[in-house]
Amino acid sequence: MTDPAARAAALLHLHHDGLEPGDPLRAPIGLSSMFHLPGDPSGLKGYGRGDNATWEAAEAALSHLEDAPSVLFPSGMAAITAGLMAMLKAGDRLILPSDGYYTTRLLSERVLERFGVEAEMRPTARMAEGGFDGVSLVMLETPSNPGLDLCDIAGIAAEVHAAGGRVICDNTTMTPLGQRPLDLGADVVVASDTKAPNGHSDVLAGHVATRDAELLERVRDWRKISGAIPGPMDAWLLLRGLETLEVRLSRMWATAETVADALAAHPKVERLVYPTRPDHPQADLAARQMSSGGTLIGLTLADAETATRFITGCPYLASATSFGGVHSSAERRARWGDEVPGGFVRLSIGCEPEAALVPALIEALDRA
Ligand SMILES: *Cc1c(COP(=O)(O)O)cnc(C)c1O
Repeated sequence: MTDPAARAAALLHLHHDGLEPGDPLRAPIGLSSMFHLPGDPSGLKGYGRGDNATWEAAEAALSHLEDAPSVLFPSGMAAITAGLMAMLKAGDRLILPSDGYYTTRLLSERVLERFGVEAEMRPTARMAEGGFDGVSLVMLETPSNPGLDLCDIAGIAAEVHAAGGRVICDNTTMTPLGQRPLDLGADVVVASDTKAPNGHSDVLAGHVATRDAELLERVRDWRKISGAIPGPMDAWLLLRGLETLEVRLSRMWATAETVADALAAHPKVERLVYPTRPDHPQADLAARQMSSGGTLIGLTLADAETATRFITGCPYLASATSFGGVHSSAERRARWGDEVPGGFVRLSIGCEPEAALVPALIEALDRA
């Protein structure tokens, strides 16, 4: 299914096929760790570390959105770990983004390297520079966070494949509705569903999606063996969130675009980065590869104090890390040691009506 509208519409009716009269319309929350198993257990649900009906319902929704089989995990990091463990072995060379998700870099430095993986980091904006001979796996994360630099997924995937390697893409910031790495040639997608897919800042979750049957089996195996399994209640909440993902993202993306244009013109803003704005150095690539500019905006103000006054002075900004929730939020990224100026703010745009949010942001900037 390639039509985005049809895909979003069908998502809301996934669980309805095959219902008997009187069946509940909603997927169950399966809380049982044990199953009734007299005699031959083959083909039956056996034990809660391997089987759960609520995971299956959430995975059906994720697989539908990805147009690829998807495996649910209890966090984005659990999904990333599963993807990397399925694709790497001792002696392999890995390239990953130096401006990618911090904990992924820690996973590489503190764990993968200990098991004999040779890792090299390079910035997202320079990821396409080649040198992929002898590289087993290239990890992409575009847009990067918080710099919002991009890399060309299709171009890199073609080069890496020609050199005999594979590509894994962290698609958290865009979701399968905003960017389709598997269609662009990536072998595996990993994502944190803690962000927009759940969307209500009350669940951590993640998934791995791939059309490669062997890798899929290894990822499933990893979950069962490592025991990195999601809770049924969390899976059910994620499923509920996924059903409104399209409507939330349409609102959030449109608002983010308006906010980016409105704030870029404000005299207190020294620099504003948003991927689809014409002043973004890779705006052409953004237009080709993303169906929107996303929900994140990078904003540089004079200094840390001005940035803090802006964030705390706007009633519609939660002072919080993470992004993708229904509420807008903001934080100074220098407080985590990101290589950004002290006055750099990452804005995550939520579902507040634009008519209320935009004037409130401008007023907070005026007073900052
Ligand atoms: C949040 C995030 C993760 C980690 O996800 P968790 O659900 O917090 O484990 C990984 N990659 C990116 C890009 C993220 O934003």
